[in-house]
Amino acid sequence: MKKHNFNAGPSILPREVIEKTAQAVLDFENDGLSILEISHRAKNFQPVIDEAVALFKELLNIPEGYSVIFLGGGASLQFCMIPFNFMEKKAAYLNTGVWAKKAQKEAKGFGEVVEVASSADANYTFIPKDFTIPSDADYFHITTNNTIYGTELQKDLDSPVPLIADMSSDIFSRPVDVSKYGVIYGGAQKNLGPAGVTFVIIKDELLGKVSRYIPTMLDYRTHIKEGSMFNTPPVLPIYTSLLTLKWLKEQGGIQAIEKKNIAKAELLYNAIDNSKMFVGTASKEDRSRMNICFVMQEKYRDLEADFMKFATSKGMVGIKGHRSVGGFRASCYNALPIESVQALVDCMAEFEKNNA
Ligand SMILES: *Cc1c(COP(=O)(O)O)cnc(C)c1O
Repeated sequence: MKKHNFNAGPSILPREVIEKTAQAVLDFENDGLSILEISHRAKNFQPVIDEAVALFKELLNIPEGYSVIFLGGGASLQFCMIPFNFMEKKAAYLNTGVWAKKAQKEAKGFGEVVEVASSADANYTFIPKDFTIPSDADYFHITTNNTIYGTELQKDLDSPVPLIADMSSDIFSRPVDVSKYGVIYGGAQKNLGPAGVTFVIIKDELLGKVSRYIPTMLDYRTHIKEGSMFNTPPVLPIYTSLLTLKWLKEQGGIQAIEKKNIAKAELLYNAIDNSKMFVGTASKEDRSRMNICFVMQEKYRDLEADFMKFATSKGMVGIKGHRSVGGFRASCYNALPIESVQALVDCMAEFEKNNA
């Protein structure tokens, strides 16, 4: 049976990217060796990193003066690398979910953290709008897409201090004005590639301003200077990410993929809004295109397990909501075809017809 992959992360990748990765594992560029058994300094691997960096810059329209690096440690390591490298005394954070909160927690070890606003009391169903960013903060940290709660900040904020964004789960899904950001980072495993590599886009002029000692491996300058090759980088995840970027370019780039993402999200949100049985959990103006969260109306709540079973029998994968929200979450990343969203919508309609 055809599987419809709504996993939140690691998550769906384009089929051709997976096939090309499999081919490179068997025989990289017809050279008789697997990509797993060559040096990261091999003549045919350097172009992989170079091309990936070039495609990042091209697809995201990254201006001059920014570096793109690939690191290990996940987005979670960035939660401490950010304050390590950029916080002298004080930093501001917007608390919009569990990941935002975890980022904030790490910063507390380095100085004063100002939480400018939080929607924790409303179980993060919305993104706070009225807040003041202290102009004496070293930076302001946001999470643009809250993967667990299905809220997304689609507008590039104006900030009086360098803006730092965790874009783990919406990078490459919509155009971003990179010039408004000091740093953009994220784990690859949502919209870019397999788990194991983290991308960081850094405005170079922000570096070298803190007075503390920074361990070599945690210093962004080390990795920028060595072109992500200070130590052995995650070779295979970088290669697969490059294939995804090439795929994205063939799709027509970010403008084209954004159109598809809007169509997919509208299809599913319309089905949720027109249903008597299902209801969305995120505040409408903040709804994420990437992670679409919904539950059953109060009076149908005890049918959730039945729907889960029914949907699974129809090939739906990964639609169980995160435990802190409950219900369902359909992650609709770039590689998910609209046919899969249609299949889920059909499945919801059929279940409702039979059970409401
Ligand atoms: C998944 C996710 C993370 C955690 O990423 P790791 O690579 O597992 O550390 C952080 N932030 C956001 C927004 C995420 O979606």
